[in-house]
Amino acid sequence: METAPCSAAEPIHVTQPELPPLGEFVDYLEKIWSSKVLTNGGTFHQQLEQALCEYLGVNHLALVSNGTLGLVLALKALRIVGEVITTPYSFVATAHSLLWNDITPVFVDVDPASLNLNPQSIEAAITPRTTAIMPVHCYGRPCDVDAIQKIADNYNLRVIYDAAHAFGVKDEQGSILRHGDLSVLSFHATKVFNTFEGGAIVCPDAKTKQRIDHLKNFGFINETTVVASGINGKMSEINAAMGLLQLKRIDEVIEKRRRIDILYRQKLSAIRGISCLPYPVGGLSNHAYFPVMVETEYPISRDQLYDHLRASHIYGRRYFYPLISDFPMYRGLPTADRSQLPAATAAAEKIICLPMHPGLNAEHVSYVVQKIHEAA
Ligand SMILES: *Cc1c(COP(=O)(O)O)cnc(C)c1O
Repeated sequence: METAPCSAAEPIHVTQPELPPLGEFVDYLEKIWSSKVLTNGGTFHQQLEQALCEYLGVNHLALVSNGTLGLVLALKALRIVGEVITTPYSFVATAHSLLWNDITPVFVDVDPASLNLNPQSIEAAITPRTTAIMPVHCYGRPCDVDAIQKIADNYNLRVIYDAAHAFGVKDEQGSILRHGDLSVLSFHATKVFNTFEGGAIVCPDAKTKQRIDHLKNFGFINETTVVASGINGKMSEINAAMGLLQLKRIDEVIEKRRRIDILYRQKLSAIRGISCLPYPVGGLSNHAYFPVMVETEYPISRDQLYDHLRASHIYGRRYFYPLISDFPMYRGLPTADRSQLPAATAAAEKIICLPMHPGLNAEHVSYVVQKIHEAA
C-alpha cells in the first residue's frame, strides 16, 4: 500500500472510481475515431462481452448501458408480471425496476446476520400472483442461493438476482452469477468494476442472451423486423473500451480492497460498540463495501457518528437508509409496513459504510478509525 500523507483537509469519500492511465484510454479513443464505430455492438463491445465471460466464469452475458436498465430488461426478457418478492434493504433501483414493468413489489425482511433476503420470509409471502423473486447480494455478500432456488423450484418462480454489488464474487463452486435465471451487474462509477456507466445481464443460455440483445436494441432482429417493444439499452464503444482497460487491473483493485478490509477489521476490533459483518464463508469476496454496525454500546448514535466523521471530511454513507419501502412510491404497499421488516429496519438504523476504495492507504484507514475512536 502507498504511504502518501493524509491531511484532514483532503476529503475521504465512501468510494472513488479507479481509473486506468489516461494515455491507454486515448489509444482506444484513436481507434474509435478512425473506425467511426461508436456503438451498436462494435468491436470493443464484442471484446468486452467475451473478456467478461472469461473473467467472471460465465457462459453468456449481455452488456447494457447501466445496471438499472439491466434489471428492467431482465424482468421484461422473462415476461415477469404480477408480484415479485424483493428486499427493502437495497438501493432504490432494485424496486424501481419492478415499477417500470408494472409489477407489484412485495417486500420481505432480511436475515439479521447476512442482511440478504430471509428465505423463510420469502416463502411466507408467496401468493397466487407471485411470479418471481428478486434478491440482492447485498454488499457483494452472497445470498442463501440454495434455499432461494429450492423455494423457486417448489413454487415455480423465476429468480432474478440484483448482483450490482457482486462483480467477481465467488462461492465454493464458482461465480455467484451462475445462480438464478438471470443476474444483473452494475458498472457504475461507484462500483468495484466501472465503465463510467454500464452493466451486464448474465444469462444461462444463448437464446436468452439473444432475446436480451434484441430487447436492448428496440426489439429489432434484423434491419426491418421489430419483434418486441424494446428499448435503447446498448453500451457504447467508449464504455466498452473503458471496461477492457479496467479489466486489466481488476485483480489488483480487489487485492487493494482486501488489504484495506483487513486493516479496518484489525484496527476497529478495539472499539466497543462497533461491529463488522463477518466474512462470508468460503469463496472469494470483492470487498465492495465496508459496512459497520453502530451498536448501543457505542456512546453516540449512528447518525451522530456520521456527522462527526463528516466534520472531519470523512464521507461515510448510510447504505441502506432509508429503506426502499419507506420512499413515497412504496410506503403505501401492504408489505412496506416497518413492523413486518424488523431486521431491515434495525440494519438501516445501525449501519454506516466506511470509505472503501483502492485509492485509500494505511494512513487514511488509521485516520478514519482514529476519528471513530475519538467519538467514543
Ligand atoms: C448501483 C446499483 C444499482 C443500479 O445500477 P446503475 O448501474 O447505477 O443503474 C442497482 N441495484 C443496486 C443494489 C445497486 O447498488
